Amino acid sequence: IWEEVLKNLQSELDESEIKTWLEPLTIAELRGDMITLSAPNKFYKKWTDDKFLKHIKKVFNNTLGIDADVTVVVGGVKKPHTQEAASVPAGAPVYVHKNGSGLNRDYTFANFVAGGSNEFSFSACEAVSEGQFMQYNPLFIYGGSGLGKTHLMHAVGNRILEKFPKMKVLYITSETFTNDMINSLRTRKMEEFQARYRTIDVLLFDDVQFLSGKQRSTEEFFNTFNALYDNQKQIIITSDKTPAEIPDMEDRLKSRFAWGLIADIQPPSTEEKTAILMKRAEFMGLKLPGEVALFIAENMITENVRELMGALVRLSAFASFHKRGLTIDLAKDALDKFIVKKDKMVSSDDIVNAVCKYFNVKMADLRSKKRTKSISFPRQIAMYMLREKLNLSLQEVGSIFGGRDHSTVLHAVNSIAGKHEESKEIQLIISTLEKDLYCQS
Ligand code: ADP
Ligand code: MG
Repeated sequence: IWEEVLKNLQSELDESEIKTWLEPLTIAELRGDMITLSAPNKFYKKWTDDKFLKHIKKVFNNTLGIDADVTVVVGGVKKPHTQEAASVPAGAPVYVHKNGSGLNRDYTFANFVAGGSNEFSFSACEAVSEGQFMQYNPLFIYGGSGLGKTHLMHAVGNRILEKFPKMKVLYITSETFTNDMINSLRTRKMEEFQARYRTIDVLLFDDVQFLSGKQRSTEEFFNTFNALYDNQKQIIITSDKTPAEIPDMEDRLKSRFAWGLIADIQPPSTEEKTAILMKRAEFMGLKLPGEVALFIAENMITENVRELMGALVRLSAFASFHKRGLTIDLAKDALDKFIVKKDKMVSSDDIVNAVCKYFNVKMADLRSKKRTKSISFPRQIAMYMLREKLNLSLQEVGSIFGGRDHSTVLHAVNSIAGKHEESKEIQLIISTLEKDLYCQS
């Protein structure tokens, strides 16, 4: 997994820093959330502690999905056995195209699992990468975090360069675009900046929602967009929201996003999650039995594919450190914190406490007659959870909340149930509460 971490650090640190200071480190121990790195000598330790530790922690948190406690020791601890069958092979480094396209070659169509939840975006991306440029222009892809938007975008870029090596493809995030613009303003090189972005054939613009509220960058992007569009160049944009939902952004830009095709990516189903896990395992050189993949897909409460990938890294690290095979039992241990304990006994107090903690409200307030939204909404959620999870009767639920009558409870429960399907906000609240209640052992 160290290779995996180093790979992910490339977005945060200079390649030379990683090569010089971090490649010589190894993971000495992995115990729960405690990660010990071994450094060749005390200079490495000092540099790592002073300069890199917070980046390393962040990347561990992102890849493993845990709040890792990372310490660096000098030598001492014996080298981990990287030869274990279950360990991640010394992963191929990320080959960034040398032509400055910003593309990551690891993100291809070949290792992307297409299915119902991303079918629409996937097909549109395939069409674009076949060179059908003006058909979907711009192609606007939106969907929640970790659902594969960035991956698809790179896949398009990689495919286009494969087919049309002379084309100028540029992948850029809205943040990099903004930084680039600020630097160009500061150094009075705006003309170069504009020329740079307006001579591209395919612009892959990631996470456009971060332009929200940034007037100057939005304006520059608007101009870039128009210049490219007028010259019939392909533009692909991603966002975590639909154009209409992006706050603080000029309508004239948002309306342009709808000129072409707007495609969504939805969270994967259990079958899709299983397929994605299997494919990624294959890519990592990990022999993951189908039943273990299915177990993870079914039991991990997450819709985020990035978190699923993290689970796989964690699983393989556990297998190699504890010299255990990839079994369901291992998955239970390695992913303890993320797995639903279906048989876990949860009481009504647990549920009410979890709701109070989530919304930062007091139990007394939920029991009180208060009807302000900040109290009544958490109360409705708590009632819904008590019905759903514990099957309590309407009377029983009512009595927990200061003796409310059953029609009040019914109304509350129905109100949440009715919104559950479409409201992302409510889904997130419920799944966070479920994680809190059922995942901690
Ligand atoms: P987003 O940009 O939507 O937040 P990413 O494209 O960064 O998500 O995807 C997160 C991780 O999940 C990446 O490692 C990506 O390779 C992987 N991933 C997401 N969807 C799929 C899929 N359908 N098939 C294979 N890997 C996927
Ligand atoms: Mg992304």
